Amino acid sequence: MKICKKCKGKNHPSAYRCRYCNTLFPDGQKIVAQRREKSKALDDKKTVWNAAAVLYIIGGVFSLIGVFFTVFAISRGYGFFFHLPLTTGAVFIGLAIWSKHEEFWSILIGFILYSLVGLLLVIISGFSFFIIIFFLSFEIYLFLGVLKIKRKPKLTTKDILDV
Ligand SMILES: [Zn+2]
Repeated sequence: MKICKKCKGKNHPSAYRCRYCNTLFPDGQKIVAQRREKSKALDDKKTVWNAAAVLYIIGGVFSLIGVFFTVFAISRGYGFFFHLPLTTGAVFIGLAIWSKHEEFWSILIGFILYSLVGLLLVIISGFSFFIIIFFLSFEIYLFLGVLKIKRKPKLTTKDILDV
């Protein structure tokens, strides 16, 4: 029998909360705290997945536009500068693939690179409203991703027990 401290009501021994006043017992509090932690961890993971997905989208958009630039450049014999969009797209797709193994650095580098490329595009476009909105919407996802990544702790010699 569990007696509620608040209302002195009698509850089943395995009860998590009082059936009279709804007060959580210590076991119940522990479970609620665990659930909150779990759902926060899942939310953080989703934010990081979104950031990785955004890297794929940015890579895809740049590659698609880049293919046109590159074909155009080859047909006209233009040089290096026209291959930049395709190169940028390839770099972002590379970062997106890398994010499966190394979330922190891939998304951080993606965020910095996208900030630079985006800023350049905003300036080139003469601060076009459309480009700014397009740029910022992806930028926010990458920024949130960087904030939420849990870095895996690196093992030090102290952590290795069998030496
Ligand atoms: Zn109670």
